[in-house]
Amino acid sequence: MGKKIIVAGLGHGGIAAAAMLSDRGFDVTVYEKKSEGTLGYDWTDIFAPGSLRIAEMEMPSEDKYEYKEDMTFFGPTSEKSLRQHVPKNELEIKMERKDIYAHFIENAVKKGVKIVYDCEVCGPIVLGNRVVGIKTSAGDVYADLVIDSCGMNSPVRRNLPAFMGIEKEASREEKITIYRAFYEKASDEEVDAKFKVMLFKHGVKGISWVASEDEYTDVLLGRFDEFDLEEVERLNALLREENPRLGKERVRGGQFVEIPVRHALSVMVANGYAAIGDSAFMTVPLIGSGIANALKAAKILTDTVVADRDGIFTAETLWSYQYYFYKTLAAGLAPLECAKYLLLKLTPEEIDYCFDSGMLSNDNVTMSATFDGIADIMKIDPKDLINKAKSVCKDPVLLKKIVTCGATMGKVATACAMIPKKWNKERVFAWAKVYSYSFK
Ligand SMILES: Cc1cc2nc3c(=O)[nH]c(=O)nc-3n(C[C@H](O)[C@H](O)[C@H](O)COP(=O)(O)OP(=O)(O)OC[C@H]3O[C@@H](n4cnc5c(N)ncnc54)[C@H](O)[C@@H]3O)c2cc1C
Repeated sequence: MGKKIIVAGLGHGGIAAAAMLSDRGFDVTVYEKKSEGTLGYDWTDIFAPGSLRIAEMEMPSEDKYEYKEDMTFFGPTSEKSLRQHVPKNELEIKMERKDIYAHFIENAVKKGVKIVYDCEVCGPIVLGNRVVGIKTSAGDVYADLVIDSCGMNSPVRRNLPAFMGIEKEASREEKITIYRAFYEKASDEEVDAKFKVMLFKHGVKGISWVASEDEYTDVLLGRFDEFDLEEVERLNALLREENPRLGKERVRGGQFVEIPVRHALSVMVANGYAAIGDSAFMTVPLIGSGIANALKAAKILTDTVVADRDGIFTAETLWSYQYYFYKTLAAGLAPLECAKYLLLKLTPEEIDYCFDSGMLSNDNVTMSATFDGIADIMKIDPKDLINKAKSVCKDPVLLKKIVTCGATMGKVATACAMIPKKWNKERVFAWAKVYSYSFK
């Protein structure tokens, strides 16, 4: 039997890595607090199907998914909208979250992964300078490597000793609170834009969508502060005025959840420990998609673990996982956090101006299944963004905000490019400080 690996929490990246590592002879056990068959939310998710192949999974059967509609973006009051134009062969797929989980779990179990359900992970077990296991509701378990896949509020990451240099929390601005539910279809009226995404609608700093499906209307309300059901009702009433298909009766979903929308952890490995998925804040900072990134990370982690022939899994040997994750993904994702901060600084009028003046184009909102980061939507580098803004924007206050954002993106991109190739604790910690500071 190979070295023993614990996956804490049945997150998407964790279960994908578990399957690939078990397939290569490691002894892998996943500990999940929920009961078997209850994972996932009562709604659909969108992700790039190519990430399944990267994580060595088959496509689900055709009755389990459909291709995503192009989204149409709207400013707070602007009449002008921006529409995605994703080529057919680059469309993402839409699947029920419960079916995504079922597919991932079936693949993992087939490859020999053991899953312990109804088992709450309480924190890491640290011996000296190494994570050697986890504390769970069923007792302590030990392993050669702990993969932390417990999500944004992971008790493993939060309880690591400070000397490991791993951040514990996402701040309020680094996460978005989402309310999502499906409502009855109140009318058969045809709609021009089936999948409407609205920025700062109704004076709320956030993003919302109304997607008109054949059987129901899918509503997502996201914002950077807490809100309650009363506020959901108020916003839904306003949305109904412009979306007659949106009925009052909730037929599915209806939960508040939080998603990290920030840069990936500046240090995501320690001796005996690696974080993946939302535990490592791997989502796209502007929109919170994280499934494809978690799957791509799972492959990089698997390759790193396999390459450690002595199976010692120190920060030094695991560093290559973080290094290649940054080189291939995080470097493109991190500058999008600057775009998020820009959005938070803009007034509704300024956002409308970006739509109306032609500063933003359909290309800038087109994220396809091949999306890897900012270069895919900007089609230009941060320097050109500043030049484009200068040529189009006549408002000096707005221009200053955009120029500052472009400059910060440049700093972030430089910091990402400077990530040390080899682990050296002092150098890595110094880099992590510069990298984290570059967003300020
Ligand atoms: C409303 C919403 C919509 C989203 N839509 C999309 C989308 O369309 N496309 C997309 O790509 N991404 C989407 N995301 C983001 C995506 O869900 C995550 O980025 C992705 O799933 C990676 O997160 P994860 O699996 O690592 O963590 P999580 O999804 O948080 O999973 C963590 C797992 O660990 C378990 N766990 C947590 N704590 C413990 C504990 N103490 N002990 C044991 N087990 C524990 C949880 O039960 C869960 O099974 C959405 C997220 C939300 C909330």
